[in-house]
Amino acid sequence: MSGTVIDKETGPAAGPSKLVSRISIIDNGMLTLQAWGADHICKVCIANSGSCCRDCRNLSDGVGCQLRNTSCTAWLCGFHKYLLYEVGQLEQWQAFWEQVPGQDYREDFTPEQLSLKKALQRPEQAMDHLGEALAADLQDMARSHIAIGIILTLREKLDKNIDQFQLEEKDHKLKLRIKRKIKVLSGDFQRFHFLLNKYYSDLSEI
Ligand code: SF4
Ligand code: SF4
Repeated sequence: MSGTVIDKETGPAAGPSKLVSRISIIDNGMLTLQAWGADHICKVCIANSGSCCRDCRNLSDGVGCQLRNTSCTAWLCGFHKYLLYEVGQLEQWQAFWEQVPGQDYREDFTPEQLSLKKALQRPEQAMDHLGEALAADLQDMARSHIAIGIILTLREKLDKNIDQFQLEEKDHKLKLRIKRKIKVLSGDFQRFHFLLNKYYSDLSEI
């Protein structure tokens, strides 16, 4: 896709395998998510009791994760999955992490050095305003809905529907229905959709 560049640390997207370190792919994964503004969404999610690190033995109060690993970096919650889905980067993200062995639950057994064929792509310019806008939309939703945990319910629904969308390969009508459902679920993300449209309109002019 235009507007994205090959991540320098993990080599060319297609071509001979390149030896990379486990640490460098974790760093690159986090930098890629940050480039789309995913960390802004985490702040809102955590403030609304949605932290995915809750009760983890590797979480240190006020400091954060003490055991960064490939598994947690690769894993996408419903919000981050939705963000990458909308910017057209979900499949390449998944394809990249599928080649990384040793992923487990809250830890990894990934070798310190490994050989990868595919690279992660990052936007040429920081696109964190997209995640920031989505975070602001979520914050508005959390404030304006009486129901407690509304955005966390939404996170799970987005997760489930995007998974279904990706898994459906044969029934095109069903796939279209799921796509519409994702659109309805994200109907309140006004700031995000405004900037997303602008992002695609800018891309089409390149
Ligand atoms: S569930 Fe998603 S948005 Fe919430 S803290 Fe975890 S990664 Fe961030
Ligand atoms: S290991 Fe994973 S779940 Fe635990 S604190 Fe670190 S990022 Fe969070």
